[in-house]
Amino acid sequence: MLLQNKDKPIPIDLSGDRSYRLVFSPIRDLPNQMREAGLRPGKCLVITDTNVAGHYRNVVVASLQEDGWDPFVLALPPGEETKSPKHLQAIYDAALNWNIDRKTPVLALGGGVIGDLAGYAASTLLRGLPFVQVPTSLIAQVDSSIGGKTGINHSEGKNLIGSFYQPKLVLIDTKLLYTLPRREWTSGLAEAIKHALIADETFFAWLEAEMIAILARDPRVVQDLVYRAAAIKAQVVSNDEFEQKSRALLNFGHTFGHALEKALGYGVLTHGEAVAVGMKAAIFMSRRFNRKLDQSRALALVHAIPTPEIPSMLGVVDVRRAMSSDKKKVLERLNFVLLKRIGDAYVTDDVTLSDVDNAIAFSLGRP
Ligand code: NAD
Ligand code: ZN
Repeated sequence: MLLQNKDKPIPIDLSGDRSYRLVFSPIRDLPNQMREAGLRPGKCLVITDTNVAGHYRNVVVASLQEDGWDPFVLALPPGEETKSPKHLQAIYDAALNWNIDRKTPVLALGGGVIGDLAGYAASTLLRGLPFVQVPTSLIAQVDSSIGGKTGINHSEGKNLIGSFYQPKLVLIDTKLLYTLPRREWTSGLAEAIKHALIADETFFAWLEAEMIAILARDPRVVQDLVYRAAAIKAQVVSNDEFEQKSRALLNFGHTFGHALEKALGYGVLTHGEAVAVGMKAAIFMSRRFNRKLDQSRALALVHAIPTPEIPSMLGVVDVRRAMSSDKKKVLERLNFVLLKRIGDAYVTDDVTLSDVDNAIAFSLGRP
């Protein structure tokens, strides 16, 4: 499945004036693409983290300045803990001290942490500033930069404070992915595999066939991987922007995964690793209700993602308890995304406590 048009922009079609495009371009092309998206040079608030700044701050600043922009870069500490009220406040302070106006774009240059945080800041500063995403991690290029979910974490759970706020532009440069640490690369594969599992068996088969090249970040497959996985996300979001129905399928593996992230303390597992473990639980539970699911085939691909040993002191009940404050619970019942088959998912709340415990025990490798 080599793609012919993998440089073609992918549209996100939404109502009103909120449609935008995922543009596959080198980062140097950013100012051009910002113009295409209707933005005109002036101040630009660039939010990034110190890792990403080390690699890409200069090229972004130089490109923007060449086109007449006046960029101000705020480089925050890397890591999930940055998706917090404290760092949101740091963005507000920087923006307001610098006298931004309602046309000043907020540009997120980074992974999902920076995208979620900067997007939420953009949605609330002066009741909404133009927002641009330049995703730099695999998770961000195939998932978090697409679809307008923004937010920060709370001690009660992940992403509990946030908004739907669409960017004006998402610029994806897959060359940026080669500086990503190996662990972040393999973590990001979790969301790509998730997209295949819930929506696209052909893509799943391609991932199976190319997994060795993908793990090695072979340039022959990287652009196809990102393009295909991003296109699935774009389609889901275009069909259901506000998660009234099918968008919920993107939470596959996340009810378990978020609980695990929370129970272990943020930052112990990467988000992608937690989702990988969560998908094992979700696949196990799916098989309990759907005998047509090829469980070993689904699990084999998820197993390709290396995950650290989960400390044995973390019990099944600890993970289950951490689930109950997940914001996706509706009327005290938790929703689970399950697979009918590979490429076909649905949402249910019709599961028992012991189904949940068995699935968690399986995913943690506990008898
Ligand atoms: P991240 O932003 O922490 O990035 C991972 C690490 O990689 C960081 O240390 C970062 O500094 C580094 N990094 C990023 N790009 C790099 C590059 N090109 N070169 C070198 N280092 C680089 O985390 P993530 O995995 O990108 O995203 C996870 C977050 O995304 C979670 O908070 C999750 O909840 C969120 N998320 C949101 C959505 C959504 O729809 N909004 C979807 C999926 C995930
Ligand atoms: Zn996720």
